[in-house]
Amino acid sequence: MLFQNITGQTAIKQKLIQSVQDNRVSHAQLFYGPEGSGKLALAIAYAQFINCRNKKVPDDGTMDSCGSCPSCIKYNKLVHPDLHFIYPVATTRKVSAKPKSRDFVTEWRNALLENQFRLSLNDWHKAIGIEKKQGFINTYDCSEILRTLSYKSYESEFKVMVIWMVEKLHHAAAPKILKILEEPPEKTLFLLISEQPDQIINTIRSRTQLVRIPKLGDMELEETLIKQYDASAEEARKTALLANGNLIAAVRIIQQVEENTFLTDTFIRWMRLCYKLDISDLNNFILEISRLGREKQKNFLNYASGMIRNCMLINYSISSQARMNEEEFEFLKNFALVINEKNLVRIAEEIDKAQYHIERNAYPNITFMDLSLTLTKLLRQ
Ligand SMILES: [Zn+2]
Repeated sequence: MLFQNITGQTAIKQKLIQSVQDNRVSHAQLFYGPEGSGKLALAIAYAQFINCRNKKVPDDGTMDSCGSCPSCIKYNKLVHPDLHFIYPVATTRKVSAKPKSRDFVTEWRNALLENQFRLSLNDWHKAIGIEKKQGFINTYDCSEILRTLSYKSYESEFKVMVIWMVEKLHHAAAPKILKILEEPPEKTLFLLISEQPDQIINTIRSRTQLVRIPKLGDMELEETLIKQYDASAEEARKTALLANGNLIAAVRIIQQVEENTFLTDTFIRWMRLCYKLDISDLNNFILEISRLGREKQKNFLNYASGMIRNCMLINYSISSQARMNEEEFEFLKNFALVINEKNLVRIAEEIDKAQYHIERNAYPNITFMDLSLTLTKLLRQ
């Protein structure tokens, strides 16, 4: 992660870069700030910068990592042998006892690399399948910290230990790492990340240098949404207002809107093809749907089911109770003419049935073709 790829936080970046140039990198630092402010990305960019062998001054005059020396290349993929992460975990189906960060390292790397190093605690819990539990940093991970730091560093100048969401550290386990946090081995850097610093056990917090990461400004969010997520200026402005300085939330909103537009367009296309019974176009359509992956197929059928129900609400003139946007209503108000009491229940049942088959690994192309042909009959009733 390069500093230049992180949204905003110019003053913090300058301060971090300066500390490296002045050779006064504090060995234990606590980056704290709200969700979506870029704490984790900044910590990783900082660690990468410290270890980069070819630091550069790009056109805008701010120093940054080169991104291409051997150390940077490993940092880019999060596989540097001297870069370690500790994060909240819990038992899962895969790890049924003594869970520790190392057991989830693949999920961790994927989650960070897929989301430009931006991750919320909820998204992390989802990524490892513990939505219904609470993740914690437990005593097994504290032992891991001691063990890992007892080895000499492999190749880089600094060995870096990032502890993400350190407020989730079990209070009973904390004493284990107090000593090493206070007097770490030479060339060891602790970067602690927190969203709720007041919940961190005091003996830990007092051993760190505090780095406050403020929430982002609306303009900074807008710029990122336009540049990195192809949002229109209007869409970016609205989203930034809703997201209130939280880039993770802003990206989620943009992606949901995008997803919804996709569902609407796909549904409209499908219903037209079914109604006209255009077999060759229908075939192409089903090929596309088959490539989507089961989660998306299920999601699409779920959406279709909701749209069919909305037709009935329109027919009974109670569309105010339906959840539709403008584009959906524009289509449904005409489409509702072919939905009546007779075919509604059957259509809903057929869609449910298809969903059931998709869940049980039926061939999606056969399932969707069957369903489409049945819908053609029912829509023409
Ligand atoms: Zn480099």
